[in-house]
Amino acid sequence: MNDQRLAEQHMRTNQDILLRQIRLLHKQIPLASAMHFLLASFIAVVMTQVIPGALVLIGWVWLIVLLMVKYFLYSSFDESADYAAIQIDRRYYLLCIDAFLTGLSWSIGIILLAELTPIEFQIFVYIIVVALCATAIGLAIKTGIYYIYQAALLLPVLVFLFSKQESLDSLLAIFLCILVVIMWVFANQTSRAITDTLKLNLENKVLTSGLKHANSRLQMANEELTQLSSTDGLTLVANRRYFEERLANELARATRDGIPVSLVMLDVDFFKMYNDILGHLSGDECLKNVANCVRESLKRPTDIVARFGGEEFIVMLSNTEQAGAQKLAEEIRRNIEALQIIHPNSKSSKYVTVSVGVSTIPKGQQVSRDMLLMKVDEALYLAKAEGRNTVRTVQYEYEKGTIGDFANKNRA
Ligand code: GH3
Ligand code: MG
Ligand code: MG
Repeated sequence: MNDQRLAEQHMRTNQDILLRQIRLLHKQIPLASAMHFLLASFIAVVMTQVIPGALVLIGWVWLIVLLMVKYFLYSSFDESADYAAIQIDRRYYLLCIDAFLTGLSWSIGIILLAELTPIEFQIFVYIIVVALCATAIGLAIKTGIYYIYQAALLLPVLVFLFSKQESLDSLLAIFLCILVVIMWVFANQTSRAITDTLKLNLENKVLTSGLKHANSRLQMANEELTQLSSTDGLTLVANRRYFEERLANELARATRDGIPVSLVMLDVDFFKMYNDILGHLSGDECLKNVANCVRESLKRPTDIVARFGGEEFIVMLSNTEQAGAQKLAEEIRRNIEALQIIHPNSKSSKYVTVSVGVSTIPKGQQVSRDMLLMKVDEALYLAKAEGRNTVRTVQYEYEKGTIGDFANKNRA
């Protein structure tokens, strides 16, 4: 399975490289066309006296045909098309045909020139051959096309030179052969370097996208972990750790900005009995419903409910005065009773109920975390003592001198 995936990956890389090579070859067409046109024009101008007019005309017509083939190749190629859409094999063969035609045309032209021009022009003709060989290095992007071009260009010229059986021509042919071998080695190296660069580029892309993917998965896992570490597993409201963190921040903000903070603590009444009679699983279900009901009773996004422990929940209401907190606490109590979860042995109602304590740090006052929690706990104790299924509030008795100490503790 793994091998198969590797083979598929390998095949995809090769296809991508071929696609990029074909794109690069098409990109060269305008420049190569300009080069062929310039060289042909130069030859026509320089040798205008020695070549018959009819031959020059045929040469021009043929050049125009070649340039049109190149234009067709270039204009029918879609840069952005993918591997499947490009019909890569067909494109490759078209480029091969173009290279063959171009090479052969030059070859015939050079042989004709060598036949028709006087000896003093001949060296100039062979300089053109060398120039054509050298400029073809761009085709080394795909060595197959390069070899076809070089073979079409040079083989007829070499056969022509050797067939003349003159020592100077044979020497020239040998010189051309050596040049061809050097050029082919050079082209091979260039081709390998280009392929390696393309491969590296592709691998880089695959790695980067893999890295991005892994990064986003890590980020998601991180967010999930943060969520998990701040949530109570049973009731899915915030856990105590998260609550403590938020409370510390809120108290610091209250001290700094002089805004009130309220806490509401609630405890399910006679819950031990509920468990004893209906079982722990029903008890768990009941706690989930109670937690959900508290969460749905909250109105502001800054209000948070957390499981404080066992069957106790705590609500933090930022920027809320005592009257508002009492109102909300009463609403929570009523909503929970309205869930009508049957409690078989409660002394306060036939349904599951909660006792609720409220405590507020009024606007402009500064109180420590411990003191605030102590007061809200006291309020809850009062609600229990005074019959349960009720809301009680405990206020602070402020004494001059102690407030400053609390403020310092909050800041810490
Ligand atoms: P009170 O009205 O005075 O609060 O009485 P209570 O029975 O609710 O109080 P007590 O503290 O005696 O009992 C609390 C019970 O809550 C005991 C414990 O089994 C139960 N409890 C605490 N955590 C869980 C929990 O996660 N799941 C279940 N099913 N029960 C729990
Ligand atoms: Mg309790
Ligand atoms: Mg209880």
